[in-house]
Amino acid sequence: MEKVTIKNITAQLLDIPIKRPHQFSAVKVSSKSFVLLKVELSNGIIGIGEGTTPGIFWNGESVETMKLVIDQYVTPLLLDQDPVLTEALLQKMNRQIRGNYFAKATVEMALLDALGKWYNIPVHQLLGTLHKDKIPVRWALASGTPEGDIEEAKEYVTSGKYDNFKTKSGKEAPEDDAKRSIRIAEGIRAHSTIGIDPNGSWDRLTSMKWMGDFFDAGIDFLEQPLPPQDVEGLARLAAMKKVPIMADESASTIDDAMRLAKADAADIFSLKIHKAGGMKNTIKVAGIAEASGISCFGGTSLESSIGTAACVHAYASIPNLDYGSELFGPDWLADDPVKEPVTIKDGYIYVPDKPGLGVELDEEKVSAYLRQ
Ligand SMILES: [Mg+2]
Repeated sequence: MEKVTIKNITAQLLDIPIKRPHQFSAVKVSSKSFVLLKVELSNGIIGIGEGTTPGIFWNGESVETMKLVIDQYVTPLLLDQDPVLTEALLQKMNRQIRGNYFAKATVEMALLDALGKWYNIPVHQLLGTLHKDKIPVRWALASGTPEGDIEEAKEYVTSGKYDNFKTKSGKEAPEDDAKRSIRIAEGIRAHSTIGIDPNGSWDRLTSMKWMGDFFDAGIDFLEQPLPPQDVEGLARLAAMKKVPIMADESASTIDDAMRLAKADAADIFSLKIHKAGGMKNTIKVAGIAEASGISCFGGTSLESSIGTAACVHAYASIPNLDYGSELFGPDWLADDPVKEPVTIKDGYIYVPDKPGLGVELDEEKVSAYLRQ
């Protein structure tokens, strides 16, 4: 049998509009940028991967840095190599390129998509076996006012599309943010719950002061209230045993996960395939959580159906995904560069069952959103 090798790698930038501007703690965005990666094997199979970040504020990477790292440093390492030895290729990348986890995850995604298509099996079978065939999805409320958020939540619950929510905070003073979150939680508590995500913008004292009120308002979790490096602060909040503390920015890599677990600094890990450096690493993070009695939540970097499919393949194999997910990216974008988007309905996202990631590129849309 002729040996199959990696023949060609191309990375393109896409800018896709979103349905409405989204306020993070640090920035407001009105479109989302992606790296679209194609890895072509010598047998003609093309695997696709998608790289995207919440923004450069999040971990220091952007789509532009990902494209540069892939073009300049990853491609020479992978060309003419055997794609079957994916783990060895990933280790080689790790030895030669420090950090840049979002870029590495994009490469892993395209390699596993190619292998899945070649073997004619979905990516989740390359990763292990499924624990669930669908996982719950929360929607992020971001209308701009508490009344608007309560109204939006009620509409989603009535239509059956989503029944649990997250709210972004960090734009206002921590004190005002806390009060706004409590108002939203109290406004929707009859039918659903919210988690709060200040993206590391609060301080220890504000967080401690409001923990009791968050608990009384029925808030589900407090995600990354403190800056990523303040693991000791997270441990103090977790020790209060009020609202469960979720680590996101603090819990990026498998090493971070170990450090947090040892410090009892989180009740929940928010997983993200890009921050961990790929789907396999994400499952390793979940394993550290499982052994430490920590629950998992399926986080998003707001991917299109390509990256979202990769997330679902990984998350749906994780037994301790107790808090569901926030994989609403395809619903939040105004368009999706695939022929058939992933299925999100009745508050769940379904695991694709076609070979590879299970999504097919729509080349016309790709051309329309290609950065010139
Ligand atoms: Mg977060």
